[in-house]
Amino acid sequence: MTAPGKRILIVEDERTIAEILMDYLRQAGFLPVHLENGQTALDAIRNGSFDLVLLDVMLPGLDGLTVCREVRTFSTVPIILVTARVEEVDRLLGLEIGADDYICKPFSPREVVARVAAVLRRAAPPTPDIRVDIDEAGQRVSIGGHRLDLTPTEFRLLRLLASRPGRLYSRAQILELAYSDDKEVSDRVIDSHVKNIRRKVAALVPGLEVIHAVYGIGYRFEL
Ligand code: CA
Repeated sequence: MTAPGKRILIVEDERTIAEILMDYLRQAGFLPVHLENGQTALDAIRNGSFDLVLLDVMLPGLDGLTVCREVRTFSTVPIILVTARVEEVDRLLGLEIGADDYICKPFSPREVVARVAAVLRRAAPPTPDIRVDIDEAGQRVSIGGHRLDLTPTEFRLLRLLASRPGRLYSRAQILELAYSDDKEVSDRVIDSHVKNIRRKVAALVPGLEVIHAVYGIGYRFEL
């Protein structure tokens, strides 16, 4: 469990939301701290040591995006951006502001706690015992030395996601970056390719998941 003693900074101007998050995070064993505005949060991150920041996008004064960009000039602390609009996530992803994950309001506090734990797990030093090799020229992928039998369409999808482990890609980005020249591929088709890749990976290494879905948003590659 990653929770004990981890300091989580909640930057949120809606007090009721912050209080609920504080309660849930405390119950899960985290040490949450709450700040209400962007500038104070930025100063606190500069001066303090937080293990993760839950950062609301819409803040009075300095907004969450500015804070996130600014933090990235001096710190790699994991940041989860919280947005009130699910449509906004695609735009945020495109901005490459350096957030580690995105949560949309309204959220369930339980989900937030799970996402916080997941981001912290990813931020922890990896223990790679399974290698994923991508052979560009041969259009082949092998996992733990075993050849994964993919179609060319599946290969392009996996190659894109694996090129930046941990990074979240929306379906629109996947379409644009992996299939811009292929009119046959649509959002729904992406989901079915992902399903096929997962099935093939699990057949090769039982229990292994390399493509993770982020509900309503897209996918990320992660061992
Ligand atoms: Ca807000």
